[in-house]
Amino acid sequence: MGSEMETDKISKDELEKPVRYVKHVGPNRARLLSKLNISTVEDLLYHFPHRYLDLSNVYSIAEVKVGSWATVVGKVVEVQSKQAKNKRIRVLSVAICDGTGYLYGVWFNQDFLKKALREGIEVAFSGQVSYEFGKLQIKNPLFDILTDDTTIDDTVHTGRIIPIYPATSGLSTSILRRILREAVSSYAKVSDPLPTPLVKDYHFLDKSTSLEEIHFPTKKEFLDEARRRLLFEELFLLQVGLVLRKHRLGKSAKGVKHQIKNRLVKEFRKNLPFKLTTDQEKAIAEIEKDMASSHPMNRLLQGEVGSGKTVVALFALLTAVGSGSQGAIMSPTEVLAEQHSTKLKQFLEGLDVKLALLVGSTPEKEKKEIQEEIFQGKIDIVVGTHALIQEKVKFKELGLAVIDEQHRFGVRQRVRLKEKGLLADVLIMTATPIPRTFALTLYGDLDVSVIKELPHGREIGEQIKTAVCNQKHRNRAYQKIREEVKAGRQAYIVCPLIEESDDLEAKAVMEEAARLKNQVFPDLKVAFLHGRLKMPEKEAIMEDWRRGKIEVLISTTVIEVGIDVPNATVMLIEDAERFGLAQLHQLRGRVGRGRHQSYCILFADSTTDESRSRMEAIKTLNDGFKLAEADLEIRGEGQLFGPRQSGLPDLKLAKLTRDFEVLVQAREEAFKIVDEDNSLSLPEHSMLLNEVRKKFAGSIDWLFHS
Ligand code: ADP
Ligand code: MG
Repeated sequence: MGSEMETDKISKDELEKPVRYVKHVGPNRARLLSKLNISTVEDLLYHFPHRYLDLSNVYSIAEVKVGSWATVVGKVVEVQSKQAKNKRIRVLSVAICDGTGYLYGVWFNQDFLKKALREGIEVAFSGQVSYEFGKLQIKNPLFDILTDDTTIDDTVHTGRIIPIYPATSGLSTSILRRILREAVSSYAKVSDPLPTPLVKDYHFLDKSTSLEEIHFPTKKEFLDEARRRLLFEELFLLQVGLVLRKHRLGKSAKGVKHQIKNRLVKEFRKNLPFKLTTDQEKAIAEIEKDMASSHPMNRLLQGEVGSGKTVVALFALLTAVGSGSQGAIMSPTEVLAEQHSTKLKQFLEGLDVKLALLVGSTPEKEKKEIQEEIFQGKIDIVVGTHALIQEKVKFKELGLAVIDEQHRFGVRQRVRLKEKGLLADVLIMTATPIPRTFALTLYGDLDVSVIKELPHGREIGEQIKTAVCNQKHRNRAYQKIREEVKAGRQAYIVCPLIEESDDLEAKAVMEEAARLKNQVFPDLKVAFLHGRLKMPEKEAIMEDWRRGKIEVLISTTVIEVGIDVPNATVMLIEDAERFGLAQLHQLRGRVGRGRHQSYCILFADSTTDESRSRMEAIKTLNDGFKLAEADLEIRGEGQLFGPRQSGLPDLKLAKLTRDFEVLVQAREEAFKIVDEDNSLSLPEHSMLLNEVRKKFAGSIDWLFHS
């Protein structure tokens, strides 16, 4: 039955045709469309209106009431621009007539609008109606041009709800409307990727009706229904992709069965100098359950810096090593890899475990030796950078890969690991608080363990007072540092320097450090920690800092991780606007770790709204999860979920923070489908499979060959 019904549907090939096949689109417009990322007929169908002009609520000019908000539609009959009495203001007034009366749209200093609002065209004005100088007017009305040339295409405007499209220069919303009218009438009859029972259960409109209604609504209720359906579909396709990936990575694949609580693990536990927190114990138990099973582990371990993830990861590593295989820890940077290696070595003292550090700066000869020993299985645990371990190293038997992502969402890392056909268990560590929306999308194919409490019952960040300052407050800020040092505390000053940044910038930071040291705080004990120092020098500084021999520690961002000095109570961050919220939060978490009131002083030269919003957020929010949500709001989800960032499909309609409920529902439905049809091979799921593969643009194709 299915195949009969499909015959009158638009084929996949037709949807993938270049846009120029659509009427009204020539080479020039095709080029302009490509600026909106529209290159195929299908892209065009998914270029949804960003708002609508509801002409079913339009008043005639004779009807409008002064003081009320109204939309009126009319023809432009007069355009006048003149200097106001106040010489600096130009007033543009545009009169429209709808046959029942005249109304004036009035703008100040916006003469450029004359270009668009020409005599003879039909427009809609919306806003609050006033009555001045004997005339009805709307000041600064929202306006939409209903036609911008003389040929009125009736089919476009018969609907009472008019779509307004995100336009680009050269392509007005009304041209787009006309192009879309064509595209929708010729190509919207597509097959429905949603399984029929689901469409029935949710009382969804079918796919083609939804496409028609979202572009050219015949009624407000149909528009709402079309959106509800397409939004669900978008999230559902995303979740089906993730659930498929989760299934393939976990349940259906054969992995290494480790021997948990083995002798090595027991010995390690016995020697631990502290008692594990409840959350640590819980995470370890979850990891052990995964590692004991014959399916590969794919788990995310989330906890703020200092929450004790490293120890948990060690339990996992020793579970692997004690069962006769090898383990690896991969870090995003060399500095981090070195820190891991140092920490791990301390913990492993006295245990019969061979650990090696493998980073870019490891001398070539030594690298070769280490690689050889890893290959022979003589090295049990290797610590290194992502790239190095993934590309250069062959293991005798890798049982567990721990990936430290810090603040990144490096979905690609583990995908690449799996692409190599690796069946090892994978544990991903991240210090970034992950809002639930993230957990269900970016990490939607993983199981998650969260460490919330910190050792000793500390809570990071709660009591830190944060101020956002400008240059005028500089002396006051330095004074605050002095006060704290005088009271016996320590202070951080962070001067951002991107790790691979140019020499000029490095020089500027060096000079600033020298200035602080010699001119601002000549009487205090000041040290400068940066990435170019050799390891022993760095270690010496860190040691002095820990012991309180250094009062002010100037640093580039090396301190982000791992430093735990409860006596430090002030942090001053220069050029704070250059950091993302997650990073600022991590940095700030270096203070407020003891019992003393702590302070964070941000110097920011915010030139954009975005960076101002970020500063406002960091000032007012202390909770990492709330900050992560704020970050989503400020940066927009597009950037986080853009295909390049995450390997996930773009979201056109859904906003994860707003549509969380739908996301959860879509995820449940996705699990139902995949549980019953693991590889979507049933004929009734073939459309769905096609659509999911297309959405993930090849990034999950490997699922289907292994
Ligand atoms: P993370 O990797 O999450 O940033 P670490 O594992 O480096 O955190 O732990 C931070 C510090 O706390 C380390 O010095 C570690 O030895 C210590 N630590 C970890 N767990 C505990 C615990 N349960 N009790 C006391 N100290 C702990
Ligand atoms: Mg750590």
